[in-house]
Parts: sequence; structure tokens; C-alpha cells
Amino acid sequence: MSRSLFGHWSEIESQVQEANAVWLGTDFDGTLTEHQPEPHLVSLDDSVRQTLDSLARRSSYSVAVVTGRSLQNIMQLVELDSIGYAGDHGYEIHTTHWQSQESLDEEAAAQLQYMNGVIISLIAYHTALQVDFKKYTMTMNFRHSSSEQRADSLRILTDAIVHCPRLKLRHLARGIEILPQHPTNKGTAALLLKERSVGRDALGVFIGDDLTDEDAFLALPDGITIHVGERETAARYRVDSPSQVADFLARLAKMPDRRQALETGKSVS
Ligand SMILES: [Mg+2]
Repeated sequence: MSRSLFGHWSEIESQVQEANAVWLGTDFDGTLTEHQPEPHLVSLDDSVRQTLDSLARRSSYSVAVVTGRSLQNIMQLVELDSIGYAGDHGYEIHTTHWQSQESLDEEAAAQLQYMNGVIISLIAYHTALQVDFKKYTMTMNFRHSSSEQRADSLRILTDAIVHCPRLKLRHLARGIEILPQHPTNKGTAALLLKERSVGRDALGVFIGDDLTDEDAFLALPDGITIHVGERETAARYRVDSPSQVADFLARLAKMPDRRQALETGKSVS
């Protein structure tokens, strides 16, 4: 059972203050911003953008947004060149120093192409179905679909995915997703970003509200993992809302920069 983050602030504060370096990863929708009925209407508050930027510019911090949105889309929404990004659940990564893209073998790529065709036929008559076609995954949102349309879409996709053994279908809070069986997820992305930016021994902090964020919580068992919301989670702490996430980030930014203080010979305590 996760515990209230702000109710245990002294232990958070000491864990951050004792860390030589911090990797801070965060989901975007429902975590840095409130969910919106239309994903393209979401925008990031300037105050949150500035806080992320000021943390990223500390020598002891590395900051990344880890999201299901495409890499191109999330970079346009956040508009910071000081942080790293993992788009499409980690299939595409861009940081200030390196980039990576998962390469799919021909068989998986052909199966994604096949499912792409199935979904295009589906949205021709289930017009309320919203689909985000990304390079490695396809996310379908049922928020405007009737329950009959939802059930029919699920049946068609479940029948089709049987022909695609290299792909899988994953249920999300607001829809479903078609993705490769390849074990890339927010957890593998978090570990890769953390190890390549600040190292294995750094403190990992991860914040998220989605079921897909659970992979990142599990990948950072000694870290400060924070779930936004109420449900059962592997995260150690929880907050209620994106505004509490903003509050948490602001509190982190107010803590002394340990490495800078050491470099300038000042005491941090
Ligand atoms: Mg989210």
C-alpha cells in the first residue's frame, strides 16, 4: 500500500539530500498535466516547465519525461532542451547526449502493418474510435465510443491479434494498445535513462498515473516512486493530483543543490 508523499516528507527530504545524484523521471498526461478529453488540447503549465528546467540544470540531476505519446509530440509539448524524453513507452529515446530507437525485426514490423490495416478498416465505420498511430505502437481511445462499439472493436482486434504472434494487446484505463511483444516499457526506459545519465547508484524518482507507469515503479524498488491517484500500485508513495506533483517538484527545486554546494565548498546542512 502506497503512503501519502507529503505525510512522509522528512524521509523524502533526507533520501534526496543524501543522494549524490538524482534521476527524475515523470509521465506526462495525468501527472504533469490534468487529463483532457482531447489529448491534443493538453498543455504544460509554464511554472512546471520552469521547475523541470531548473532541476535539469543542476549538476546532480538528470530529468526525463517518459510517456506513451510519440517522441516528436512530447518534445513539442514540453519544449525543453535541458531534459531527456522517452516516447512511445520507451521505444524512442532522445536525451541531450544520445538518442536511441528500438529496431523491430521484419516479422514484427509486418504484423504492425497488418494491424494498422485492421484498425483503419475499423475506424471507417466506428468513427468515434480515436486512434494514435505511432511508430511502434497504436493506441485506441474509447472515450467517445458507445459500449456496443467498444465491444465490437475489442472483438475485431482480439480476433486479428491472434494472427500476430509478435504483437500483443494491452488494456489501458481509457482504451487499448497494440504493441510489440518486445519487452520495452517505461521500466526499461527508466533504467536505461538513469544508468546512462547519472549512473546505477543514483537515486531514482519516478512519478506517474498510468498502469504502464507500474513498470517504472517496479524497476526502481529503492527509489522514490509516486503514483498520482488512488488505485493499488507498486509505487511507494502517492499524491492526489497533477497540482500536487507540481508542488512536489517545486519542493525539490527549493532543496539545496548538494553537488553544487560541495563544489563551491559550502555546507548543505
Ligand atoms: Mg499518464
